[in-house]
Amino acid sequence: MTLRIHDTLSREKVDFVAHDAGHVRIYVCGPTVYDYAHIGNARPVVVFDVLVRLLRRLYPKVTYVRNITDIDDKINNAARETGEDIRSITMRTTEAFHVDMAALGALPPDVEPRATEYIKEMQAMIEDLIAKGHAYEAEKHVLFNVPSMPQYGRLSRLDEREIIAGARVDVVPYKRDPQDFVLWKPSDAETPGWDSPWGRGRPGWHIECSVMSAKHLGDSFDIHGGGQDLIFPHHENEIAQSLSAQGSGTFAKYWMHNGYLMAEGKKMSKSLGNFYTVHDLLDEFPGEAIRLLLLKTHYRQPLDFTKGGLREAKTELDRFYGVLRSADDLGALGDDIPTGTVDALGDDLNTPLALSELHKIVSDMNKSGGDSKVAVKGQLLAAGGVLGLLQQNPEHWFRWQPKATGGGLGDEAIETLIAERRKARANKDFACADEIRDRLAADNVFLEDSTNTTTWRRG
Ligand SMILES: [Zn+2]
Repeated sequence: MTLRIHDTLSREKVDFVAHDAGHVRIYVCGPTVYDYAHIGNARPVVVFDVLVRLLRRLYPKVTYVRNITDIDDKINNAARETGEDIRSITMRTTEAFHVDMAALGALPPDVEPRATEYIKEMQAMIEDLIAKGHAYEAEKHVLFNVPSMPQYGRLSRLDEREIIAGARVDVVPYKRDPQDFVLWKPSDAETPGWDSPWGRGRPGWHIECSVMSAKHLGDSFDIHGGGQDLIFPHHENEIAQSLSAQGSGTFAKYWMHNGYLMAEGKKMSKSLGNFYTVHDLLDEFPGEAIRLLLLKTHYRQPLDFTKGGLREAKTELDRFYGVLRSADDLGALGDDIPTGTVDALGDDLNTPLALSELHKIVSDMNKSGGDSKVAVKGQLLAAGGVLGLLQQNPEHWFRWQPKATGGGLGDEAIETLIAERRKARANKDFACADEIRDRLAADNVFLEDSTNTTTWRRG
């Protein structure tokens, strides 16, 4: 299968051809760690998780690097506002990010470099850029000189005026050109800083990714990904730095960007009450439903994330897990992904089409009277493996309950009641059996009887 991807640089869907077919290398910009990840932060994590899962099916080796930005003025501001130590903020929020993304079924990257561990390498790249005439020191800052890079603006396709407006750059007197951007800036006594040839200071954001990608993937790698909002200035500046420092090499061969995310039809904002952190959503919905909702829209399209949509996604997963549960004792299976699913994903990661293929498989099974359950179970699990869905034990899925309703019946109490009901039925005490069923239903627990067993799920 030829993987086709939309490359932001050429604005076209192209055949993906790896630098080295034996080893695919991908870099995705990771979070700035100062607060819980919101659902907009989660979108690229889930999208590129599916891409990496697919690449792993197609190539013998994949190295996936996603950084942690643990030095940034947003972090410094959070520390100033709350009084919490900077390192404590970054460690705590990195940990929360890992927990939240794992709940969404995102596998950890192979390498997760933290910016503060690469300050020496950043200083070396900055010195190199100065030596090559692409950067200069001015009033304790080091700035990248944009006119020294003729291809600047190729990724974002912005002209000079739009660049100045878009970057909201301060037109400060020490800049040679208003487009020039910061590689290094001075730190005052209260702000984290490192000694450097230009005085005590800290790196700009863009230089981090140029350094960490080169360190772990080399000067030329295959795919660089991130949210659409990073195209300018972040990715444009990464290209300028990396290509100017290297002199040769391609930096990223392909650029992939996911579209914007809104919530409940509006731009997310704390004042509108539609600012959803993953952490909070997980109290109300299973992580897998959040993941499914993110994948129901093609990654390049804008996505309107709603709680109504989450409820629908949960119902869809109930349906899939219902099929898996009913085929649970039907033995082990191969891992052949249904052709329709793999073709859909190979066509620029068309997850909505891949998901509709799964629904089709289940509908066909229902039409054929359920004889093909084993095959369907195999196909659901194999396709789910690439999409990062349907991998939990169905019983576990049906027992999930929102945190808000805590205090409901625990699993053990439910099992005890079901055992009592079984006894009542054996004694033909159907009134008692029905009473237990109603009692459980009132607690949002629903029973399904088959010939020999009773399964249950939380509603
Ligand atoms: Zn980056």
